[in-house]
Amino acid sequence: MSYVDEVFDLVVEKNPAQPEFHQAVKEVLESLRVVIEANEEAYRRDALLERLVTPERQLLFRVPWVDDKGQVQVNNAFRVQFNSAIGPYKGGLRLHPSVNLGIIKFLGFEQIFKNSLTGLPIGGGKGGSDFDPKGKSDREVMAFCQSFMTELSKYIGADTDVPAGDIGTGAREIGYMYGQYKRIKGVYEGVLTGKGLSYGGSLARTEATGYGLLYLTAEMLKCNGHDINGKTVVISGSGNVAIYACQKAQQLGAKVVTVSDSTGWVYDPEGIDVALLKEVKEVKRARLTEYAAARSSAEYHEGRGVWGIKCDVALPCATQNELLLDDAKALVANGCIAVAEGANMPTTMEATEYLQANGVLFAPGKAANAGGVATSALEMSQNSERLSWTFEEVDSKLQNIMVNIFHNLDNAAKKYGMEGNYVAGANIAGFLKVAEAMTAQGIV
Ligand code: NDP
Repeated sequence: MSYVDEVFDLVVEKNPAQPEFHQAVKEVLESLRVVIEANEEAYRRDALLERLVTPERQLLFRVPWVDDKGQVQVNNAFRVQFNSAIGPYKGGLRLHPSVNLGIIKFLGFEQIFKNSLTGLPIGGGKGGSDFDPKGKSDREVMAFCQSFMTELSKYIGADTDVPAGDIGTGAREIGYMYGQYKRIKGVYEGVLTGKGLSYGGSLARTEATGYGLLYLTAEMLKCNGHDINGKTVVISGSGNVAIYACQKAQQLGAKVVTVSDSTGWVYDPEGIDVALLKEVKEVKRARLTEYAAARSSAEYHEGRGVWGIKCDVALPCATQNELLLDDAKALVANGCIAVAEGANMPTTMEATEYLQANGVLFAPGKAANAGGVATSALEMSQNSERLSWTFEEVDSKLQNIMVNIFHNLDNAAKKYGMEGNYVAGANIAGFLKVAEAMTAQGIV
């Protein structure tokens, strides 16, 4: 049996009931097959793949907190410190009822390659909890965040592990967590990114993932003879990534006609009104029905449906496994030319393969949404030098990073005979740097 297959079987055996983690490992290992086979003897001797798929450290802890009725609640929490070969662990904290160890491991594993692709010195990690901030009062969210950080603070630090936001962890949650870290540790250091501007945050971090997604998508289109200007775009999600993807797409001359949330979606043929979307989602924290109620050109639909709308470019920006094979078929049938993942692993493997087989340009999340973590690393740099850069400085660095990422994965795909396969290109380019660092550092 080949080394890749052996290691994949081992992952399934040793990590039962973690389907998302298996899916992420399979997708990465499959596309690394040619690289691994070329170095199989050395990698096998060093157990490089076994070490790569096994987190350096996994923390599981309980988070007790008191709700507004005086009732004690208990949540499960996780921090997976996956790989520190190229820098301190870096990756977000997800707060969502669906969070479990397998989800955090899939995200942490993906993060290793994403962080490597940015070209910046950051290792891979991820964390979170099954706590749901939705419907909770600010006091309850603070109580949870303080209890969560009381435990997490023992294991993180500006030079060891630097968490950030993710689904459910926005500016409010990062603020409460940062305050508690500072109180416990008594140090003012850049231990979290995504901080507010008044206490060490970076300009353009809020916009970075969505903007970066568009910078990479525009470059991918350009290198394949298309222009983002004038294209019709469908977006799923209406959170941080979706909102700023929408904003940048419009700035680049595209028209975004959909957004969604976990209960429904909006079709707005005149183009999404970003100011209204921000008001509904960032200020009122309301459902998309409020967007549709305030805008006569918008239709609201319950359930899923954005991938059935005719478009040139599709940007899944909500969550994992939200673009399925039938959705991919609908996109192809409607003439879609490019899909770029704003979310992590939103497209299933069958859907990805179908899109690629039908000539759709496909940019995987670990490349396309790397702008968030890249700008988090820029926030770390600013914290270390106790300086703040201007919006334009950060945004222009972000743009360069995203363009470089695209060319790195394009070149890696070409070098290994898979021209145009950006999934393989991203995995190979991300892997080679980490593998080299792991090899150089010996058996640790
Ligand atoms: P937010 O919490 O701001 O927004 C998430 C959006 O997705 C909301 O519209 C939410 O709807 C929707 N959503 C979440 N879960 C589900 C679900 N199970 N089914 C349908 N819709 C769902 O998160 P972000 O925008 O920050 O993150 C979105 C994705 O991008 C995630 O995959 C995240 O890991 C990834 N990402 C984020 C980065 C960042 O910098 N923020 C960086 C890189 C990747 P509702 O409001 O109804 O829950």
